[in-house]
Amino acid sequence: MDGTGLDLGYPAPPSNDRRALDPDWAAVVEHLPDAVTVTVAVRGPDGTPVDMRLEYMNAAARAGQPDPASAIGSLCSELWPQMVANGSFAACLRVLATGEPAQGAFQWSGPDTDRPGEYGYRAVRVGHDRLVWVLRDVDDTTLRLDRQRARFRSAFDASAEGMALVTPFMEVVEVNPSLCRIAGRNKSTLVGADLRTVLHRATVDKLVRASRAAPGAVTDPTLAETRTLGPDGRMTWLRIDLAPVHEHPDEPSHYIVHVLDVSEAKRNHMALAHAVRHDALTGLANRTLIVHHIASSMRRQRHNLCATAVLFIDLDHFKVVNDSLGHDKGDHLLRIIATRLDEATGPGDVTGRLGGDEFVIVRAVGPHPAGADDLDAFAQRILATVAEPVLLDGRRVVVTATIGVALADDTDATPDDLLRDADIAMYDAKRAGGARVRRFGPAMRARVLNRLELEVAIRAALAAGDFLPWFQPVVDLVTDRVVGAEALARWRRGDEIVTPAGFLEVAEQSGLIEPLSTHVGLQALAALAAWRRDGEDDTRWMSVNVTARQLDHAGFVDDFLAALRGHGLPPSSVVVELTEGTLLAVSSDAHRALARLRDVGARVAIDDFGTGYSSLAYLRDLPVDILKLDRSFVSRAPDDPRDLALVRTFVDMSLAIGLEVIAEGIETDAQREAVVGVGCRLGQGYLMARPAPALPS
Ligand code: C2E
Ligand code: CA
Ligand code: CA
Repeated sequence: MDGTGLDLGYPAPPSNDRRALDPDWAAVVEHLPDAVTVTVAVRGPDGTPVDMRLEYMNAAARAGQPDPASAIGSLCSELWPQMVANGSFAACLRVLATGEPAQGAFQWSGPDTDRPGEYGYRAVRVGHDRLVWVLRDVDDTTLRLDRQRARFRSAFDASAEGMALVTPFMEVVEVNPSLCRIAGRNKSTLVGADLRTVLHRATVDKLVRASRAAPGAVTDPTLAETRTLGPDGRMTWLRIDLAPVHEHPDEPSHYIVHVLDVSEAKRNHMALAHAVRHDALTGLANRTLIVHHIASSMRRQRHNLCATAVLFIDLDHFKVVNDSLGHDKGDHLLRIIATRLDEATGPGDVTGRLGGDEFVIVRAVGPHPAGADDLDAFAQRILATVAEPVLLDGRRVVVTATIGVALADDTDATPDDLLRDADIAMYDAKRAGGARVRRFGPAMRARVLNRLELEVAIRAALAAGDFLPWFQPVVDLVTDRVVGAEALARWRRGDEIVTPAGFLEVAEQSGLIEPLSTHVGLQALAALAAWRRDGEDDTRWMSVNVTARQLDHAGFVDDFLAALRGHGLPPSSVVVELTEGTLLAVSSDAHRALARLRDVGARVAIDDFGTGYSSLAYLRDLPVDILKLDRSFVSRAPDDPRDLALVRTFVDMSLAIGLEVIAEGIETDAQREAVVGVGCRLGQGYLMARPAPALPS
């Protein structure tokens, strides 16, 4: 055996002469712990090696062979297909072809193991045709450790999780790229740094303490979440855990730190949590969060001397803004108000929106009575801040608010009770005209209950058809002729006839006024048809009272015109009465409805003229045909020269722009003479006729 070029780290044989090989040296080769194999090249027709034939195996090589004796003389490609598969066969042929030695590694499964072992090999050509192949099992050797280390290293480096190895004094020994990225620093500045200056100091200290206190804890106490400003200036949430590395059982030699950037999950979570408890339009607390805050404020109030106050804030006539300027502007206004409310409140207060134009402020107030005074002053400030003009679409818009306040002095009340009481107080303030603050009182609840009972009764009466029109004639004050009549709603409640004073307010507030008024109006048209048939005069007309809500209702005009057609009445035989305030506040839909009615010949009257804004300037621009002078002017006209002058001006103006005038509520001859004296031709009043269930014949 020729040992040329074979360097296995063993002492060289004393001579390279094969014949001189000492039998002891043959024994050395035979008993080497490495497997030594000698093969002879099998060459193709062109002389290139295509295979090898086995010539010799030492003891270690034979140990890996199922039938070593018969293997000698076999072709290597047949004997060891694994060599072909793992590429070492080709490497050996190259060695034979070029004479260049080769080394490498491969996995090899021996006959008695199913787990492949890891082998390193060296192949050397000896002479022209002989190949010496030395295989070393590298399992459990330093090579394998190195490989494991390399594998661990690449896992460490590739991990998306930030990782660091630190000393017990928190000095950074190793960091991976992810941690560099999270910390926004490069590796050279991190290695050697104190971990506490890299991550949140208090959190790191806490983790170290926890890991010392419970070294073997099953539930992991050494896990913490911390919030820091990330390298990009954004808030970053990190989940950090610290695991001790023990080389000796007592003290950890190192710690492995894992840092996970959980910002995105955290942000999603927070966005969701926020959405669930906040109003999307304004970002204020929603009902859920408001109730939660009231509850926790009430719990606190048991321990200190504070009381929980709830302010229920409702904007006045918000619908008008919404309808006239559009929903976008309405939303914009709500956002502005939300910001103002939020800014007007203190750090302990909570501002929320229940929906629509309803806002709530929860506030803890100090002990009586100073606290109560403070609360009133606060509510007044809120009124003032809401009422500051808002610029919408280049227009200055002023909205006012109505505020109901409830104070939790009895601890049995629930948050919902408190909210409801504040709502009731707000409602009460609205009924008093709005734009004011009202504190909840027990009497209010009784009033509200009465109101609710009344509402139920009205609803039932409406279903039973117990509302009907009574009629009051409109008279030509010069000729005494009845020219028309006004239909006035009455409620037949058992034996009693209830006038609008007994139901109108509740009907309006509950929205029942719309069906009620329509029902009465349609009956009035039927009565007008009969009235015209009975008499020979077919110029008599019927005046019906209409609310803004009816005009907003899409089908109102259609129903009305259909009823007229059904009764064979021309549209000119009806007058639709609206109050001044309604006319000014109605939406664009309502204006279109009015225009449609006037287009076909129906007339529109301003009711109660003089009680509203009384601006003559806009009279010309309003879509009206008749002006009904309010009773208050008529009643004072005979005695008060200034009222008489006003009435004269109204009449003159109206006639000048082509309006008809009807004086309402004439009770005395003096009043009748006074209005006639200033040129008013038509009148209505007890003097001529009271409202009655039937029309005059
Ligand atoms: P209004 O439209 O101003 O109706 C005139 C009111 O004055 C009627 O009261 C009438 O009875 C009363 N009145 C007439 N002449 C005199 C008089 O010489 N002296 C006094 N003191 N009062 C007189 P009523 O019937 O109680 O109706 C009150 C209000 O209810 C009406 O005021 C009207 O605004 C509303 N209303 C009545 N019926 C309806 C209806 O069907 N629909 C709607 N939306 N509102 C209605
Ligand atoms: Ca009227
Ligand atoms: Ca009137």
